[in-house]
Amino acid sequence: MLEAPSITVLIACFLVYLYVVWKGLKGDNRISFYGPVALIRCRSCVEIIQKIARLGLPHAAWLAVGTWIFSMLFGMVLLLQSALGSFALSPEQAPEPTTLIGLPGINPLIPLSYGLMGLVTAIFAHELAHGVTLAANGLAVKSAGIVYFGMPLGAFVEPSDEFQNAKTLVKTKVFSAGSFANFLIAFLTLLILSSLSINVSPTVRGIVVTYVAPETPAAQASIKPGDIIVGINNHSIRNGSDFHAFMKEKKAGENIVLHFHDGRRVTVTLADRYYFTKNDSERGMGFIGVKIVGVDELSRNLMFSISDKPIDFLRKIISFPLYMETMKYLEAALPQPFGDWELFYTLAWIAWMNLALGLTNSLPIVPFDGGSALKVVLEATLNRIPESRRSSIVNVFTLAVSLATIALILAPILVPRLKFLFHN
Ligand SMILES: [Zn+2]
Repeated sequence: MLEAPSITVLIACFLVYLYVVWKGLKGDNRISFYGPVALIRCRSCVEIIQKIARLGLPHAAWLAVGTWIFSMLFGMVLLLQSALGSFALSPEQAPEPTTLIGLPGINPLIPLSYGLMGLVTAIFAHELAHGVTLAANGLAVKSAGIVYFGMPLGAFVEPSDEFQNAKTLVKTKVFSAGSFANFLIAFLTLLILSSLSINVSPTVRGIVVTYVAPETPAAQASIKPGDIIVGINNHSIRNGSDFHAFMKEKKAGENIVLHFHDGRRVTVTLADRYYFTKNDSERGMGFIGVKIVGVDELSRNLMFSISDKPIDFLRKIISFPLYMETMKYLEAALPQPFGDWELFYTLAWIAWMNLALGLTNSLPIVPFDGGSALKVVLEATLNRIPESRRSSIVNVFTLAVSLATIALILAPILVPRLKFLFHN
Protein backbone atom coordinates (compact mmCIF):
# COMPACT_ATOMS: atom_id res chain seq x y z
CA MET A 1 0.00 0.00 0.00
CA LEU A 2 2.97 2.33 0.53
CA GLU A 3 4.30 4.02 -2.55
CA ALA A 4 8.02 3.92 -3.37
CA PRO A 5 8.93 7.50 -2.29
CA SER A 6 7.42 7.02 1.16
CA ILE A 7 9.52 3.88 1.69
CA THR A 8 12.64 6.01 1.17
CA VAL A 9 11.25 8.51 3.67
CA LEU A 10 10.52 5.72 6.16
CA ILE A 11 14.06 4.37 5.89
CA ALA A 12 15.48 7.88 6.42
CA CYS A 13 13.22 8.32 9.45
CA PHE A 14 14.37 5.01 10.86
CA LEU A 15 18.05 5.95 10.48
CA VAL A 16 17.34 9.17 12.40
CA TYR A 17 15.59 7.04 15.06
CA LEU A 18 18.68 4.82 15.43
CA TYR A 19 20.83 7.97 15.80
CA VAL A 20 18.45 9.33 18.47
CA VAL A 21 18.53 6.04 20.39
CA TRP A 22 22.34 5.99 20.22
CA LYS A 23 22.57 9.60 21.49
CA GLY A 24 20.09 8.82 24.26
CA LEU A 25 21.95 5.73 25.40
CA LYS A 26 25.19 7.76 25.45
CA GLY A 27 23.56 10.02 28.05
CA ASP A 28 22.20 13.01 26.11
CA ASN A 29 19.84 14.52 28.71
CA ARG A 30 17.46 15.92 26.06
CA ILE A 31 16.41 12.39 25.20
CA SER A 32 14.39 10.09 27.42
CA PHE A 33 12.70 6.78 26.74
CA TYR A 34 9.33 5.21 27.41
CA GLY A 35 10.17 1.66 26.36
CA PRO A 36 11.25 1.97 22.73
CA VAL A 37 9.53 5.36 22.33
CA ALA A 38 11.97 8.28 22.48
CA LEU A 39 10.98 11.72 23.75
CA ILE A 40 13.26 14.40 22.34
CA ARG A 41 13.08 17.65 24.34
CA CYS A 42 14.05 20.75 22.45
CA ARG A 43 14.79 24.20 23.79
CA SER A 44 13.86 25.84 20.49
CA CYS A 45 10.46 24.09 20.52
CA VAL A 46 9.68 25.94 23.76
CA GLU A 47 10.97 29.19 22.23
CA ILE A 48 8.76 28.75 19.15
CA ILE A 49 5.75 28.21 21.44
CA GLN A 50 6.57 31.38 23.38
CA LYS A 51 7.01 33.36 20.15
CA ILE A 52 3.63 32.27 18.82
CA ALA A 53 2.03 33.04 22.20
CA ARG A 54 3.41 36.60 22.04
CA LEU A 55 1.54 37.18 18.75
CA GLY A 56 -1.56 37.22 20.93
CA LEU A 57 -4.94 35.90 19.82
CA PRO A 58 -6.98 37.23 22.75
CA HIS A 59 -10.36 35.67 21.96
CA ALA A 60 -9.19 32.39 20.49
CA ALA A 61 -9.12 30.70 23.91
CA TRP A 62 -12.73 31.69 24.62
CA LEU A 63 -13.71 30.31 21.25
CA ALA A 64 -11.82 27.13 22.16
CA VAL A 65 -13.78 26.68 25.39
CA GLY A 66 -17.08 27.20 23.54
CA THR A 67 -16.00 24.78 20.83
CA TRP A 68 -15.07 22.17 23.45
CA ILE A 69 -18.51 22.33 25.10
CA PHE A 70 -20.23 22.16 21.70
CA SER A 71 -18.08 19.31 20.36
CA MET A 72 -18.42 17.32 23.60
CA LEU A 73 -22.23 17.53 23.34
CA PHE A 74 -22.11 16.86 19.58
CA GLY A 75 -19.83 13.85 20.17
CA MET A 76 -22.18 12.48 22.83
CA VAL A 77 -25.19 12.83 20.47
CA LEU A 78 -23.28 10.93 17.74
CA LEU A 79 -22.33 8.22 20.24
CA LEU A 80 -25.91 7.91 21.56
CA GLN A 81 -27.21 7.59 18.00
CA SER A 82 -24.70 4.88 17.15
CA ALA A 83 -25.40 3.05 20.45
CA LEU A 84 -29.18 3.11 19.84
CA GLY A 85 -28.62 2.03 16.23
CA SER A 86 -26.53 -0.92 17.42
CA PHE A 87 -29.67 -2.66 18.75
CA ALA A 88 -30.89 -3.06 15.16
CA LEU A 89 -27.63 -4.68 13.97
CA SER A 90 -27.20 -8.43 13.50
CA PRO A 91 -23.95 -10.00 14.77
CA GLU A 92 -22.70 -10.16 11.13
CA GLN A 93 -23.28 -6.42 10.72
CA ALA A 94 -21.44 -5.55 13.94
CA PRO A 95 -18.24 -3.63 13.12
CA GLU A 96 -14.87 -5.18 13.91
CA PRO A 97 -13.38 -3.80 17.16
CA THR A 98 -10.38 -2.46 15.21
CA THR A 99 -12.59 -0.09 13.19
CA LEU A 100 -13.32 1.89 16.38
CA ILE A 101 -9.67 2.82 16.81
CA GLY A 102 -8.68 5.77 14.66
CA LEU A 103 -5.09 4.64 14.24
CA PRO A 104 -3.51 3.78 10.88
CA GLY A 105 -2.02 0.28 11.03
CA ILE A 106 -4.74 -0.93 13.43
CA ASN A 107 -7.89 0.27 11.72
CA PRO A 108 -8.20 -1.59 8.39
CA LEU A 109 -10.19 1.29 6.88
CA ILE A 110 -7.32 3.78 7.27
CA PRO A 111 -4.53 3.57 4.66
CA LEU A 112 -1.15 3.53 6.41
CA SER A 113 0.71 6.31 4.59
CA TYR A 114 -2.15 8.83 4.32
CA GLY A 115 -3.28 7.96 7.85
CA LEU A 116 0.13 8.52 9.44
CA MET A 117 0.54 11.83 7.64
CA GLY A 118 -2.84 12.97 8.98
CA LEU A 119 -2.18 11.69 12.50
CA VAL A 120 1.25 13.31 12.84
CA THR A 121 -0.10 16.65 11.57
CA ALA A 122 -2.99 16.44 14.01
CA ILE A 123 -0.82 15.64 17.05
CA PHE A 124 1.66 18.44 16.27
CA ALA A 125 -1.11 21.03 15.92
CA HIS A 126 -2.84 19.73 19.06
CA GLU A 127 0.21 19.90 21.32
CA LEU A 128 1.38 23.21 19.87
CA ALA A 129 -1.99 24.73 20.77
CA HIS A 130 -1.77 23.42 24.37
CA GLY A 131 1.69 24.97 24.68
CA VAL A 132 0.76 28.31 23.13
CA THR A 133 -2.26 28.65 25.43
CA LEU A 134 -0.10 27.89 28.48
CA ALA A 135 2.43 30.54 27.46
CA ALA A 136 -0.23 33.09 26.49
CA ASN A 137 -1.68 32.81 30.00
CA GLY A 138 1.69 33.46 31.59
CA LEU A 139 2.34 29.84 32.57
CA ALA A 140 5.75 28.32 31.94
CA VAL A 141 6.20 25.48 29.48
CA LYS A 142 8.55 23.08 31.28
CA SER A 143 9.53 21.22 28.15
CA ALA A 144 8.33 20.47 24.66
CA GLY A 145 9.53 18.21 21.95
CA ILE A 146 8.98 15.35 19.60
CA VAL A 147 7.78 11.81 20.23
CA TYR A 148 9.87 9.53 18.04
CA PHE A 149 9.35 5.83 17.46
CA GLY A 150 10.80 4.72 14.14
CA MET A 151 9.47 8.00 12.76
CA PRO A 152 8.21 11.25 14.31
CA LEU A 153 4.89 10.05 15.73
CA GLY A 154 3.83 13.18 17.53
CA ALA A 155 4.77 15.94 19.90
CA PHE A 156 4.41 16.64 23.57
CA VAL A 157 4.17 19.71 25.77
CA GLU A 158 4.79 19.53 29.49
CA PRO A 159 3.42 22.29 31.74
CA SER A 160 5.40 23.36 34.80
CA ASP A 161 4.05 22.50 38.26
CA GLU A 162 2.39 25.93 38.67
CA PHE A 163 -0.30 24.70 36.22
CA GLN A 164 -1.91 22.73 39.08
CA ASN A 165 -2.64 26.01 40.89
CA ALA A 166 -3.79 27.97 37.85
CA LYS A 167 -7.31 29.45 37.71
CA THR A 168 -10.17 27.22 36.56
CA LEU A 169 -10.76 29.24 33.42
CA VAL A 170 -7.09 29.18 32.42
CA LYS A 171 -6.94 25.41 32.91
CA THR A 172 -10.13 24.92 30.87
CA LYS A 173 -8.69 27.11 28.09
CA VAL A 174 -5.47 25.10 28.03
CA PHE A 175 -7.36 21.76 27.92
CA SER A 176 -9.72 23.01 25.18
CA ALA A 177 -7.00 24.48 22.96
CA GLY A 178 -5.70 21.15 21.60
CA SER A 179 -8.97 20.00 20.06
CA PHE A 180 -9.75 23.53 18.91
CA ALA A 181 -6.54 23.59 16.84
CA ASN A 182 -7.57 20.26 15.31
CA PHE A 183 -11.01 21.58 14.34
CA LEU A 184 -9.45 24.70 12.87
CA ILE A 185 -7.04 22.66 10.74
CA ALA A 186 -9.84 20.33 9.62
CA PHE A 187 -11.93 23.33 8.61
CA LEU A 188 -9.12 25.02 6.66
CA THR A 189 -8.13 21.76 4.99
CA LEU A 190 -11.71 21.15 3.90
CA LEU A 191 -11.91 24.66 2.46
CA ILE A 192 -8.77 24.00 0.40
CA LEU A 193 -10.11 20.58 -0.57
CA SER A 194 -13.39 21.95 -1.86
CA SER A 195 -11.64 24.66 -3.87
CA LEU A 196 -9.30 22.05 -5.42
CA SER A 197 -12.30 20.02 -6.55
CA ILE A 198 -14.41 22.96 -7.64
CA ASN A 199 -14.49 21.88 -11.30
CA VAL A 200 -14.79 18.19 -10.57
CA SER A 201 -18.10 16.99 -11.89
CA PRO A 202 -18.64 13.70 -13.71
CA THR A 203 -17.62 13.52 -17.37
CA VAL A 204 -19.59 10.29 -17.72
CA ARG A 205 -23.29 9.66 -17.28
CA GLY A 206 -23.89 6.16 -16.04
CA ILE A 207 -23.88 3.88 -13.02
CA VAL A 208 -20.98 2.45 -11.02
CA VAL A 209 -21.03 -1.20 -9.93
CA THR A 210 -20.19 -1.15 -6.19
CA TYR A 211 -20.79 -4.82 -5.37
CA VAL A 212 -21.07 -8.10 -7.28
CA ALA A 213 -22.81 -10.96 -5.44
CA PRO A 214 -21.05 -14.34 -5.81
CA GLU A 215 -22.52 -16.99 -8.13
CA THR A 216 -24.83 -14.56 -9.90
CA PRO A 217 -24.98 -13.82 -13.65
CA ALA A 218 -22.89 -10.69 -13.02
CA ALA A 219 -20.14 -12.69 -11.26
CA GLN A 220 -20.16 -15.31 -14.04
CA ALA A 221 -19.76 -12.53 -16.62
CA SER A 222 -16.70 -11.23 -14.68
CA ILE A 223 -18.30 -7.87 -13.87
CA LYS A 224 -16.22 -6.12 -11.17
CA PRO A 225 -16.84 -3.37 -8.64
CA GLY A 226 -15.77 -0.12 -10.26
CA ASP A 227 -17.13 -1.03 -13.72
CA ILE A 228 -19.18 1.82 -15.13
CA ILE A 229 -22.30 0.84 -17.11
CA VAL A 230 -23.48 3.48 -19.59
CA GLY A 231 -26.13 1.50 -21.47
CA ILE A 232 -28.09 -1.75 -21.73
CA ASN A 233 -29.21 -3.13 -25.11
CA ASN A 234 -30.12 0.06 -27.03
CA HIS A 235 -31.05 2.17 -23.98
CA SER A 236 -28.69 4.63 -22.39
CA ILE A 237 -28.46 4.24 -18.61
CA ARG A 238 -27.81 7.66 -17.11
CA ASN A 239 -28.53 7.01 -13.44
CA GLY A 240 -29.80 4.54 -10.85
CA SER A 241 -33.48 5.04 -11.65
CA ASP A 242 -32.88 4.36 -15.39
CA PHE A 243 -31.28 1.06 -14.41
CA HIS A 244 -34.02 -0.01 -11.99
CA ALA A 245 -36.78 0.98 -14.43
CA PHE A 246 -35.11 -1.09 -17.16
CA MET A 247 -34.51 -4.15 -14.96
CA LYS A 248 -38.09 -4.18 -13.66
CA GLU A 249 -39.36 -5.14 -17.12
CA LYS A 250 -36.89 -7.98 -17.60
CA LYS A 251 -37.75 -11.66 -17.11
CA ALA A 252 -35.56 -14.56 -16.01
CA GLY A 253 -33.76 -16.22 -18.92
CA GLU A 254 -33.64 -13.05 -21.08
CA ASN A 255 -30.32 -11.95 -22.55
CA ILE A 256 -29.19 -8.36 -22.06
CA VAL A 257 -26.12 -6.60 -23.48
CA LEU A 258 -24.32 -4.31 -21.03
CA HIS A 259 -22.36 -1.39 -22.51
CA PHE A 260 -19.44 -0.30 -20.34
CA HIS A 261 -17.76 3.10 -20.26
CA ASP A 262 -14.46 1.49 -21.28
CA GLY A 263 -16.06 0.22 -24.52
CA ARG A 264 -16.67 -3.40 -23.46
CA ARG A 265 -19.96 -5.07 -24.37
CA VAL A 266 -20.97 -8.07 -22.27
CA THR A 267 -23.99 -10.32 -22.80
CA VAL A 268 -25.58 -11.63 -19.62
CA THR A 269 -28.39 -14.18 -19.22
CA LEU A 270 -30.62 -13.08 -16.35
CA ALA A 271 -31.30 -15.53 -13.52
CA ASP A 272 -34.58 -15.97 -11.61
CA ARG A 273 -34.82 -13.37 -8.86
CA TYR A 274 -36.82 -15.77 -6.66
CA TYR A 275 -33.83 -18.11 -6.50
CA PHE A 276 -31.85 -15.40 -4.66
CA THR A 277 -34.50 -13.62 -2.59
CA LYS A 278 -36.92 -16.53 -1.86
CA ASN A 279 -39.65 -13.93 -2.22
CA ASP A 280 -42.70 -15.51 -3.95
CA SER A 281 -43.82 -12.26 -5.56
CA GLU A 282 -40.46 -12.06 -7.38
CA ARG A 283 -40.71 -15.47 -9.10
CA GLY A 284 -39.74 -15.25 -12.75
CA MET A 285 -38.25 -11.76 -12.53
CA GLY A 286 -34.85 -11.12 -14.09
CA PHE A 287 -31.86 -10.96 -11.74
CA ILE A 288 -28.31 -9.86 -12.45
CA GLY A 289 -26.64 -9.62 -9.01
CA VAL A 290 -25.02 -6.20 -8.75
CA LYS A 291 -25.34 -3.26 -6.41
CA ILE A 292 -25.04 0.00 -8.30
CA VAL A 293 -25.11 3.72 -7.71
CA GLY A 294 -25.44 6.56 -10.20
CA VAL A 295 -22.17 8.35 -11.04
CA ASP A 296 -23.86 11.72 -10.42
CA GLU A 297 -25.33 10.63 -7.08
CA LEU A 298 -22.02 9.16 -5.93
CA SER A 299 -20.14 12.28 -6.91
CA ARG A 300 -22.66 14.49 -5.07
CA ASN A 301 -22.30 12.33 -1.96
CA LEU A 302 -18.52 12.05 -1.92
CA MET A 303 -16.96 15.13 -3.44
CA PHE A 304 -16.52 18.15 -1.20
CA SER A 305 -18.14 21.23 -2.60
CA ILE A 306 -17.98 24.81 -1.47
CA SER A 307 -21.76 25.06 -1.94
CA ASP A 308 -22.48 22.18 0.50
CA LYS A 309 -24.43 22.89 3.66
CA PRO A 310 -22.06 22.68 6.69
CA ILE A 311 -23.86 19.59 8.01
CA ASP A 312 -23.43 17.76 4.65
CA PHE A 313 -19.80 18.73 4.67
CA LEU A 314 -19.40 17.25 8.15
CA ARG A 315 -21.28 14.06 7.22
CA LYS A 316 -19.07 13.59 4.14
CA ILE A 317 -15.78 13.98 5.98
CA ILE A 318 -16.80 11.86 9.00
CA SER A 319 -17.86 8.92 6.81
CA PHE A 320 -14.91 9.36 4.41
CA PRO A 321 -13.04 6.16 5.50
CA LEU A 322 -16.16 4.09 4.73
CA TYR A 323 -16.31 5.44 1.17
CA MET A 324 -12.59 5.40 0.39
CA GLU A 325 -12.99 2.24 -1.78
CA THR A 326 -16.03 3.61 -3.64
CA MET A 327 -14.18 6.88 -4.15
CA LYS A 328 -11.49 4.92 -6.05
CA TYR A 329 -14.22 3.57 -8.39
CA LEU A 330 -15.41 7.07 -9.03
CA GLU A 331 -11.99 8.25 -10.24
CA ALA A 332 -12.67 6.82 -13.74
CA ALA A 333 -15.77 8.99 -14.12
CA LEU A 334 -14.36 12.23 -12.74
CA PRO A 335 -11.73 14.64 -14.06
CA GLN A 336 -8.70 14.98 -11.76
CA PRO A 337 -9.04 17.58 -9.03
CA PHE A 338 -6.46 20.37 -9.10
CA GLY A 339 -3.13 18.94 -7.98
CA ASP A 340 -3.97 15.26 -8.52
CA TRP A 341 -5.94 12.66 -6.54
CA GLU A 342 -2.97 12.07 -4.26
CA LEU A 343 -3.19 15.63 -2.92
CA PHE A 344 -6.96 15.25 -2.62
CA TYR A 345 -6.62 12.11 -0.46
CA THR A 346 -3.77 13.60 1.60
CA LEU A 347 -5.90 16.63 2.49
CA ALA A 348 -9.00 14.52 3.12
CA TRP A 349 -7.08 12.32 5.57
CA ILE A 350 -5.49 15.32 7.30
CA ALA A 351 -8.99 16.72 7.78
CA TRP A 352 -10.39 13.37 8.96
CA MET A 353 -7.57 12.70 11.43
CA ASN A 354 -7.82 16.20 12.88
CA LEU A 355 -11.58 15.84 13.29
CA ALA A 356 -11.20 12.38 14.84
CA LEU A 357 -8.50 13.51 17.27
CA GLY A 358 -10.38 16.71 18.14
CA LEU A 359 -13.69 14.94 18.73
CA THR A 360 -12.16 12.07 20.74
CA ASN A 361 -10.27 14.49 22.95
CA SER A 362 -13.41 16.56 23.56
CA LEU A 363 -15.28 13.59 25.04
CA PRO A 364 -15.69 13.54 28.83
CA ILE A 365 -13.24 10.69 29.36
CA VAL A 366 -10.44 11.02 31.94
CA PRO A 367 -7.50 11.38 31.19
CA PHE A 368 -8.39 12.89 27.75
CA ASP A 369 -8.54 16.68 27.58
CA GLY A 370 -12.36 16.68 27.69
CA GLY A 371 -12.39 14.62 30.90
CA SER A 372 -9.70 16.75 32.51
CA ALA A 373 -11.56 19.96 31.62
CA LEU A 374 -14.82 18.55 33.00
CA LYS A 375 -13.06 17.68 36.24
CA VAL A 376 -11.64 21.19 36.60
CA VAL A 377 -15.05 22.76 35.92
CA LEU A 378 -16.79 20.44 38.42
CA GLU A 379 -14.25 21.22 41.12
CA ALA A 380 -14.89 24.94 40.66
CA THR A 381 -18.68 24.50 40.63
CA LEU A 382 -18.68 22.53 43.89
CA ASN A 383 -16.31 24.90 45.69
CA ARG A 384 -18.69 25.31 48.67
CA ILE A 385 -18.27 21.64 49.57
CA PRO A 386 -15.28 20.95 51.87
CA GLU A 387 -12.15 19.95 49.97
CA SER A 388 -11.95 16.36 51.28
CA ARG A 389 -15.52 15.42 50.27
CA ARG A 390 -15.41 17.46 47.07
CA SER A 391 -12.53 15.63 45.47
CA SER A 392 -14.12 12.23 46.07
CA ILE A 393 -17.46 13.43 44.61
CA VAL A 394 -15.66 14.83 41.55
CA ASN A 395 -13.61 11.66 41.12
CA VAL A 396 -16.61 9.33 41.35
CA PHE A 397 -18.66 11.49 39.00
CA THR A 398 -15.97 11.87 36.31
CA LEU A 399 -15.20 8.15 36.53
CA ALA A 400 -18.90 7.31 36.03
CA VAL A 401 -19.18 9.69 33.05
CA SER A 402 -15.96 8.28 31.57
CA LEU A 403 -17.19 4.69 31.87
CA ALA A 404 -20.63 5.57 30.46
CA THR A 405 -18.99 7.29 27.45
CA ILE A 406 -16.70 4.30 26.86
CA ALA A 407 -19.76 2.00 27.04
CA LEU A 408 -21.46 4.10 24.34
CA ILE A 409 -18.34 3.87 22.16
CA LEU A 410 -18.23 0.08 22.54
CA ALA A 411 -21.99 -0.45 22.02
CA PRO A 412 -21.89 -1.09 18.23
CA ILE A 413 -19.34 -3.89 18.61
CA LEU A 414 -20.79 -5.41 21.82
CA VAL A 415 -24.59 -5.05 21.62
CA PRO A 416 -25.18 -7.09 18.42
CA ARG A 417 -22.91 -9.90 19.63
CA LEU A 418 -24.47 -10.00 23.15
CA LYS A 419 -27.96 -9.93 21.66
CA PHE A 420 -27.04 -13.01 19.67
CA LEU A 421 -25.80 -14.83 22.81
CA PHE A 422 -29.04 -14.17 24.69
CA HIS A 423 -31.20 -15.33 21.80
CA ASN A 424 -29.58 -18.76 21.80
ZN1 LIG B 1 -4.55 17.32 24.48
